[in-house]
Amino acid sequence: MNLPLWINGQPVRGTGEIARENPADPSEQVGTVRTADAALTGEAVGAAAAAFAGWARVPVAERVARVTEAIVETSTANGERGPLLSRELGKVIGDVQGELGFALALARYDGPVAERLCADRVLHDDEGTLITTADPYGVIAAITPWNAPVILAALKVVPGLMTGNTMVVKGSPLAPLAVTDFLSQVARRLPDGVLNVVNGGADVGQALVGDPRVAKVSFTGGLATARHIAATAAEHVRPTVMELGGNDAAIFLPDADLDVATLQRAVFGSFLTSGQVCMAIKRLLVPAARRDEFVEAYLEAARRVLRVGDPLDPRSTMGPVISREHQQRLTGLVQSARDAGATVHELGVYEPSSDDGYWVRPTLVLGLDDRHPLVADEQFGPTVPLLTYDSVDEAVARANGVDQALASSVWSADEQRAVAVARRLDAGFTFINCHNRAGTSLRASFGGRRHSGHGREFGEAGVAEYVQSHSINSPAAIRENRALGNAYPVPAAAG
Ligand code: NAD
Repeated sequence: MNLPLWINGQPVRGTGEIARENPADPSEQVGTVRTADAALTGEAVGAAAAAFAGWARVPVAERVARVTEAIVETSTANGERGPLLSRELGKVIGDVQGELGFALALARYDGPVAERLCADRVLHDDEGTLITTADPYGVIAAITPWNAPVILAALKVVPGLMTGNTMVVKGSPLAPLAVTDFLSQVARRLPDGVLNVVNGGADVGQALVGDPRVAKVSFTGGLATARHIAATAAEHVRPTVMELGGNDAAIFLPDADLDVATLQRAVFGSFLTSGQVCMAIKRLLVPAARRDEFVEAYLEAARRVLRVGDPLDPRSTMGPVISREHQQRLTGLVQSARDAGATVHELGVYEPSSDDGYWVRPTLVLGLDDRHPLVADEQFGPTVPLLTYDSVDEAVARANGVDQALASSVWSADEQRAVAVARRLDAGFTFINCHNRAGTSLRASFGGRRHSGHGREFGEAGVAEYVQSHSINSPAAIRENRALGNAYPVPAAAG
């Protein structure tokens, strides 16, 4: 498989190539994608800019119908895309099927929202006529990571196109195949230039973000990259959406159920996609008095549901991590925890399907200080620290005491108590008695605060990111030939 770029309705050969290996068996080359350079990236932006006026004029209901139809056809057209995504990413086949169905579910949710948001709001009253329109921005640059490449691109492309923007998308060089295939299949079902796909690394990303014809940047990825992108976008004062990493705490309140079903949800909350999920549980906060009970139940739950093995084997629930570099970083992190005196419990059934894949044994780590890098920073892998607390106030303070503020969860037998604690958490999303993908909802906006970024995806807010308001105000006084009053009346002096 060798996939071209997709620019202005055409496959384009590009100037270079990225080869992607199978993380479960690096000797297998899964495929290649062609890459862009700065000139081709400029062509893609130019095509999107030229297509914008025509696409923005298409009535919103028709745009929604066309985007939805393109996604329906693309989602059902290629049965090989699932195994392809699994082989390039190491994601287990069960999860991959969910990932490929996502764009369609999102299109069905976003369509009516886009139609509602794009409708003019008109006010006629004594003050005059006020029309508020919701206009697309123009060309959106979308830059995405590798850990859920199709879902994360869909979260930008579906609302972006439905609201009348045109787009250039750049996926990650670490998992470029399924997303390039998916997006170019959607693009060829839409007018030329409406959706363009480029590939490459930081240089292509910078060429894209720095192009003055780009009106807004939507980025999902890491903090260091976000800083570069924000700086480049600032040159043209372009707005950004930044969906960055998290260091999510799961707070188990003193009354939390610790039955096997609950702890299986907690295990998947951490180890889905080998822990490489922005909204994975990255710290467990457990009452000190219940630590031993928790650990025993957690190890049992992991034994039952966590099975590391060949991602294409439907019995596997966890595959390898994305790269040798990431494997080494994670192994080093666990070793440094051992060196710091932590207790490391190996979890689940561990049966790697090759000797030299990027496997990392899942672990639960006890006894670390909050300043250890495994606790203080996003590990983004299958190792989770368990921290104990003495009071709920302390748990809340420590949950909030890191730089990232993406998601969090509160676990309790009493929903109201859990919600009361959730309100005190500094995060864009809090799950109750669950955590991670299974607990999300198409209608619930998702996004971070502080170092986890700004802007939202999912829900109405995720669609609203792609429109900007325009107020058209015709004061009644002018129509009636009266003098304009003071719009900001001075309050009468007191007394
Ligand atoms: P990354 O920042 O390394 O790469 C993301 C994308 O940015 C890739 O396409 C990459 O090629 C591109 N890029 C890299 N340098 C660039 C530059 N200087 N200019 C422009 N583009 C550049 O991130 P990653 O390793 O692919 O993803 C992992 C991170 O993403 C984690 O921190 C994870 O938590 C986060 N993430 C966040 C969310 C969310 O919704 N908040 C979702 C998934 C992943």
